[in-house]
Amino acid sequence: MTRINVMQPWFGSEEVAAVSAAIESGWVAQGPRVADFETAFAASQDIPFAVATSNCTTALHLALVVADIGAGNDVVVPSFSFIATANAATYVGARPVFADVDPVTGNLTAATVEAALTKRTRAVIAVDQGGIPVDLDSLRELCDPQGIVVIEDAACGAGSTYKGRPVGAGADASAWSFHPRKILTTGEGGMLTTPRSDWAERARRLREHAMSVSANARHASVLAPAEEYVEVGFNYRMTDLQAAVGLVQLGRLPEVVRRRRDLAAEYGKQFADLENVRVAQDPPWGTSNFQSFWIEILPGSAADRDGVLARLAGDEISARRGIMAAHRQPAYRGKDAGTVPLPVTERLTDNTLILPVFHQMTESEQARVIHSVRAAVTGGR
Ligand SMILES: *Cc1c(COP(=O)(O)O)cnc(C)c1O
Repeated sequence: MTRINVMQPWFGSEEVAAVSAAIESGWVAQGPRVADFETAFAASQDIPFAVATSNCTTALHLALVVADIGAGNDVVVPSFSFIATANAATYVGARPVFADVDPVTGNLTAATVEAALTKRTRAVIAVDQGGIPVDLDSLRELCDPQGIVVIEDAACGAGSTYKGRPVGAGADASAWSFHPRKILTTGEGGMLTTPRSDWAERARRLREHAMSVSANARHASVLAPAEEYVEVGFNYRMTDLQAAVGLVQLGRLPEVVRRRRDLAAEYGKQFADLENVRVAQDPPWGTSNFQSFWIEILPGSAADRDGVLARLAGDEISARRGIMAAHRQPAYRGKDAGTVPLPVTERLTDNTLILPVFHQMTESEQARVIHSVRAAVTGGR
């Protein structure tokens, strides 16, 4: 039996040709291809400005820096997320304050954020968990009157929509990931998007050591103009090799999302009669790219979550525990991260798992996964 992976990137000869062309051009670090990728990504996400970064974690860090969040500030984040969401707040010296999530979407809501606000709250980082769009407008209604910045961690969100627009478009700033586990990939890579030209300009400088003249601009003139370092910056650059791949992958995005939504719909159909399984679904306000297709194992199932995972592993199917809970990790356990109880986070973390979904997945591979899950949940063979 061949093994079925939880995720597999999808490349063609076009990516190989694009990387070859970048190498043959002699320009491999951040340059014209990164600039082209930024322009194309901003257009595809319907957001005025995009700044490419080395990954989504560095994009989140830059978002908080340009928003002037720092020591003495609280940043509300879901514990129910990859740990980078909370870490970004820690990097700038702020305190991440964990808020609980909605039991259906796994995302922050106005009510869960409100319960976590303090006098020192200056920002909220809302996640589109697994690609499911967060209800951003309700967060903005709560946060805008209080001067609280809303940042969207859209690491998993490329190709998801919110009220007819791409996710990320309605936030003060959004951060995207191009890790192979995500929806489109550049190996490693990220993007910061924002409608604010001043934030974009500062982020563009900060990701390149806060140099007043970009390496690209210096290269363009024989006698490079003298540069200044206007503040303490970072090296968070993407390379042109990565951007070359990203440009091709971005063109594949609609097709990739369509396929993932078809696979998700098939899982939904095949599990519809199982009372002890709840599947991830589109919320009323948008559509998911199903970057992670997760299911929740409800009480009454013949096997609990870990039992279902064990059964899948026995059938050579590589599924994953659902989203982690950052507050339970040693990095944050016992640390001061607010006082809000997180019962939904803990329930979802303990009872969800992520099933294989990838572009090349065949009907027979998906049938194997469906059979295995059904057998585990119903106690069949
Ligand atoms: C993957 C992920 C990140 C980190 O992305 P990198 O590109 O690996 O830094 C951050 N937040 C969420 C919600 C993620 O899923």
